[in-house]
This record gives sequence, structure tokens and C-alpha cells, in this order.
Amino acid sequence: MSLSQEILKDKFRGAILGGFLGDAFGSGFEGMHPDRVMFHLSNLDSPSAHHFVSKKYHRTYTDDTDMTLALAESIVQTGRIDPEQIAKQFSLTCDLTRGYASGTIKAVLALRAGMKWYEVARIVFENGSFGNGAAMRVSPVGLLYHHDLNRLQEAAIQQASITHVHPIGQWGAVMQAFSVGLAVTQRPKEPFKKETMVTNLREILWGGPIEYMKALNRIEEMVTHDKKLVAREVVSFLGNGVEAHFSVPSACYIAITYSPDFCDAIRAAISLGGDTDTIAGMVGAIVGAHIGEKGLPMEWIEQLEDGPRGCSFAINLADRLFETWCKIHPSSTG
Ligand SMILES: [Mg+2]
Repeated sequence: MSLSQEILKDKFRGAILGGFLGDAFGSGFEGMHPDRVMFHLSNLDSPSAHHFVSKKYHRTYTDDTDMTLALAESIVQTGRIDPEQIAKQFSLTCDLTRGYASGTIKAVLALRAGMKWYEVARIVFENGSFGNGAAMRVSPVGLLYHHDLNRLQEAAIQQASITHVHPIGQWGAVMQAFSVGLAVTQRPKEPFKKETMVTNLREILWGGPIEYMKALNRIEEMVTHDKKLVAREVVSFLGNGVEAHFSVPSACYIAITYSPDFCDAIRAAISLGGDTDTIAGMVGAIVGAHIGEKGLPMEWIEQLEDGPRGCSFAINLADRLFETWCKIHPSSTG
């Protein structure tokens, strides 16, 4: 199946902007219990009533989008995944006031102090981090290599290795990158092919930690019942935490269950509570890669911050990432 250049370009925008939306809309609920989230979720569509995010009623992005944009910029500059260059970009542009975890702050400060990129990941956790930080930023890799799944896996791990050397942290990035890449290949106006997604992910994840295969087995059971589980059940089966294996599978399940309805997917992600900005951001990237920018809610996009590295910058960067993909993919100009 081949998609037109116009549709692919729209999907690149959809993934970057979808992740931005999920992060910005989800961040006001971070750390909440699912019951408390449900109490506040009715405020989601009303910026004037939603006082968690910003006093100016603009939806601001957090570390998830900040690192995604930095990774995309590095790819645009080099045309590939170069960990040294990505680390340099992190040290140059990461805004550490945007809700970064303490471990990532230490890593970025170490890079700024001149530490080599391959030494940084172990300064916080000697055996590496289980966290979802490498997964939350990986959508540009899923976009760049959606046509080459072998390269996609290698690239997801390479970009992860700057901050995450533990296989659970790295393979969370693999699962999220593949989910984005597979979503790109699906037609935007057709329902998500859930069974195809699960089969493809199974082929990929068998090489990683057993935690992801266990989660995928649960996802398969959940999608075959063809019933949307309530938040409490999703949290019980797959999790809502900052650990990659307790958040990436949840994001994948929500995305393939609710896409193409972007708003319902984000509401479902936020309703899990816990790490809401990252889970909603990952859901937004996958669903956005499926439906493209044209499928995203304009009234939500209008609420996003638009400063020097805000909404317009992200859209422009998505276009430059698409141009980079055209250059590395020989048949894309035919
Ligand atoms: Mg965040």
C-alpha cells in the first residue's frame, strides 16, 4: 500500500502535533488518581475553566514535547540518528523548567558540563532507567523509518541510549516508535487495523524484555473482546506509571482502541491518571500519525502555546522532518 506525499506530510504533522496536544492537555492531570481525574475531566474542553495548566489559559507543553522537538531538530540537521548530535541538541535546547524528572535534569546538566553522551545514562541509575523518557520523545524516529522496520528498531534504541541503557527503558521506546511507524502506514480515514498492529508488534517485541510480550498478550485479549475497558481496568491490566513497561503498552492499547477519534483517545488516556501527560502524549503521537493533522481538533490546536518553540514551530519542524524523510527514502520522489 502506498500513500500519497500529501497524506504522508499530513501524517508527519499529525504525529508531532498530536503528541504536543496530548502532552499539553494531559499535563494538568499528572499524578492524579483516576477517580479524581474523572471529577475534573469535564473541564478539558473549556480553557477558562481549566486552571491547572496556565494562568493565561494557554496549553503549555512539558518535557515530553520539549525532547521530541529536540530529537526532530537533530534528525533534520543530520538526516539520521546520531546520538552525539542528539545529545548536543538536548544540551542546547532542553528547557529544564518544563517538568523534567530529576534524573533527566542531571543528565542534561552533565551534557552541558561536557560529559560524553555515552557516559551520561549511568550517572543517575547505574543499571539504567526503567522510565518512559526515551519512549515519550521517540515519535520522530517512528516517522523517519516507518518504511524500514529493521532500521526503526535500531534507531529507537540508539536515541534511547543517551538517557536509558536498561532494556526496559529502551524497548519502551521501540514499542512506541513502532506504534507510530505502523500508524503512519494505515489509511487515515479507515479504522485502525488492531489485529495487524498486535501481530506486527509481536514480531518486533519478541526480541525485547518479557514484560512487553506479557503486556502485548493482555492487549490482544483486550482488543479481541471488542469492548472498551474502563480506566480502572486498563490501569489494572497495563498500568499508568512512569515506568516504560507500565505506560507505553497502555498508550498503545488506548490509541488502537479509540483512533480515529482523537479527542476520545486523549480523554481515555488522561482518565487513567498517573503519568497523564506522557501517556496522552504518546497516544496523541500514535493517533496523529494515523489520522494526520487534518483529523486533529482545530479548537484544541488553537489553545496551544505558540511562542518561539510552540505550535507553529512544531508544525514547521514536522514539515522539515518530512523533507528529510523524502531525501533518505529513494522512491519517495517518484
Ligand atoms: Mg511531561
